[in-house]
Amino acid sequence: MLSTDSLLADFPILDQTIQGQRLVYLDNAATTQKPMAVLLASRHYYEAINSNIHRGTHRLARAATDAFEKARETVAAHLNAASSKEVIFTSGTTGGINLAADILALSGRIGPGDQVLVSTLEHHSNIVPWQMLCQRTGASLKVIPCQDDGALDQHGFNEMLDGPVKILALTWISNAFGTVNPVVEMTRSAREAGAIVLIDAAQAIAHLPVDVQVLGADFVAFSGHKIYAPTGIGVLWGRSSLLNELPPWQGGGEMIREVTFQHTTYNELPFKYEAGTPNIEGAIALAAAIDYVNGIGIDVIRVHENKLIHSASDALSSIKGLRLYGPEDRSGSLSLTIDGLHHYDIGTLLDNMGVAVRTGHHCCQPLMARFGTTGTVRASFALYNTLRDVESFVAAIEKSIMMLR
Ligand code: PMP
Repeated sequence: MLSTDSLLADFPILDQTIQGQRLVYLDNAATTQKPMAVLLASRHYYEAINSNIHRGTHRLARAATDAFEKARETVAAHLNAASSKEVIFTSGTTGGINLAADILALSGRIGPGDQVLVSTLEHHSNIVPWQMLCQRTGASLKVIPCQDDGALDQHGFNEMLDGPVKILALTWISNAFGTVNPVVEMTRSAREAGAIVLIDAAQAIAHLPVDVQVLGADFVAFSGHKIYAPTGIGVLWGRSSLLNELPPWQGGGEMIREVTFQHTTYNELPFKYEAGTPNIEGAIALAAAIDYVNGIGIDVIRVHENKLIHSASDALSSIKGLRLYGPEDRSGSLSLTIDGLHHYDIGTLLDNMGVAVRTGHHCCQPLMARFGTTGTVRASFALYNTLRDVESFVAAIEKSIMMLR
């Protein structure tokens, strides 16, 4: 069992009060807090080895390059990638999805009459890049429907695969409802139907083991800041056999092998997709975050978070007029609305009580429209949350209802 008391000491930011109340941080789906191990890794980089990477002859450049490439190995091992060449450092999930969508659009593999499938549960980051790809290629965007319980309609999905589907872009865990999609099965079906599959693991990365070989997709994108690492760093894992066939993306330093004014040849993976100076410190800190999580164990974290989320949903389900969204076996996030009350007003009152949650559409406007609401109140959990946090959250919800009614 996770001993959160000792873990809390690893996260200095959590040791503060808001208007005299203990901070209860339940906005982890937006971004997680950073443990000392990550803060120290960033600091050590700038204090001891800051330098630009690759091509350097001096010692600092070699130390920075080694640390950056070691970080890539750590990510590759965490994802069980066949090779670290498949790990492309990006600015985040959004950066990774745009990279994948752009190179697929450029590849000439997608054209008029083709279909791109996304689901109703997607974050805008896994909708808009595909809409843009459709505009560029003449393909059309199709949407996997969502049932009333917040799970995807698997029957509808399987029927859609009879069409000319070229791409499936699917979230593993919904950031809005916490729905966990059966990504292994959906990926298998889509690939059997001839589609390229991208999995948005922005939420999954902190809550589930992400093994790209078990998953079987072509691309997996995630952000460091959702897994206790800094903002501005993320990963696009891509199947090397596919990446080797796809065209380069941004042009610049590092992604080239040889440049003349007449002709340029391109570097091998992963550098082909890493033009310019990357976020060196971010990659090193991401590796420190992954080591931190693995030091605890993702399965231990998952059991702990599930206990919290179940305890919260049990307590909230007895409140009159309160509606919970998503299936019972949700992961990470818990979304709710209360009859007659605006989500923003509840969020503001909760903030005054020291409870940090997110309100609004959570970058999922089509999903909110499907459920007939402009937004929800979302509590989202991380390894450092406690049953005491759940009690504070539920008590704050009850108090807000009394104050607003
Ligand atoms: N997809 C999902 C499921 C997310 O939760 C998020 C972040 N809320 C994103 C994509 C985008 O991540 P980022 O802003 O870090 O690029």
